[in-house]
Amino acid sequence: MFSNELALLNWEQERKSIYAKSADDVRKVLASEIPAMGQLPFEDFKALLSPAAAPFLENMAQKSAALTRRRFGNTMQLFTPLYLSNLCSNSCTYCGFSASNRISRKTLSLEEVLDEARILKDKGFKHLLLVTGDVPRKVGLPYLAQIIRFLAQAFPQISIEVPPMEEADYQALIAEGLYGVCLYQETYNPVCYRQHHLKGSKRDMANRLNAPDKMGNQGVQKIGLGVLLGLEDWRVDSLFCGHHLRYLQQHFWKTRYSLSLPRLQPSSADFQVPKPVADRDFVQLITAWRLFDPDIDLILSTRESARLRDRLCRVGVNAMSADVRTEPGGHALGENAKRRQFEVGDHRSLNEIADMLKCQGFSPILKDWGWL
Ligand code: SF4
Repeated sequence: MFSNELALLNWEQERKSIYAKSADDVRKVLASEIPAMGQLPFEDFKALLSPAAAPFLENMAQKSAALTRRRFGNTMQLFTPLYLSNLCSNSCTYCGFSASNRISRKTLSLEEVLDEARILKDKGFKHLLLVTGDVPRKVGLPYLAQIIRFLAQAFPQISIEVPPMEEADYQALIAEGLYGVCLYQETYNPVCYRQHHLKGSKRDMANRLNAPDKMGNQGVQKIGLGVLLGLEDWRVDSLFCGHHLRYLQQHFWKTRYSLSLPRLQPSSADFQVPKPVADRDFVQLITAWRLFDPDIDLILSTRESARLRDRLCRVGVNAMSADVRTEPGGHALGENAKRRQFEVGDHRSLNEIADMLKCQGFSPILKDWGWL
């Protein structure tokens, strides 16, 4: 289990090691051939994440873009989340769905899910990410199994972003047509983790850390990792997430992996971002990840503004969310700010984003065939 591996890593030692990297360390990494299948040593990853790498951003971006082009061609995967419910029994300081927030709660019925899905299908989406909060007795296995059973008839790829489940649950959902699972650790620092997860089952950090092992054991085809950028030092959290990825790749080598890059925006309502990530740092992070693992799907969120996404899509990501509503039924029932998880920064439609990508020489794709 990864929690055992994590116990061998010391946050403070790793932090010091990252900050001790020099310009020469960075130069050495950039002068060498980047291994094609994600074998960059951790010491090199630390150099790319370090403050010493900041002056080399242009060089990193060029290498990252070239590696992305070599692995993924000119494709850019587009997908959208479908929010099923904003019920949640947890209190997470940064989330609009937190149990302590007085918001309008809504769980979609099967008919409402199908209405929402029909709209997304008509828009052209083929890959859906189903999202719920954490109330297993209402939006747990039976609810998800029924919805996946119906949606799998119309969508070739169904993934979920839901609380950690047991192995038997993943197995049951795979039988209904589940393809992938995203489960972001938020932060790998145990102290910070407890500061931001105040109540509910999410306080159990080890349970969350070990859920990807359970997914891998059951043969989930794609596992999505990530940290919530802005909670802790992004350099150290990303290094730890890199350890998590490598651990999983070694144990579950047939699985594909993705990495999401959700960045808390300073404007998030009622929440002061503890360690905001500046735009330049964000670019460094994307390029460092691409050089660390040329094979992983790197996902750019609609939390970022349209202006920034137009530029960031060129430096190393190969997947983007599009046309996002972060409240249940946001497409079919109409937008409702009182039910939202967070504000999106890019409000463009799927067609507008696809046009922007085509103008930049990308082929937007709505179905990821890479796993076949
Ligand atoms: S982050 Fe997830 S678990 Fe936490 S309050 Fe939001 S929906 Fe619930």
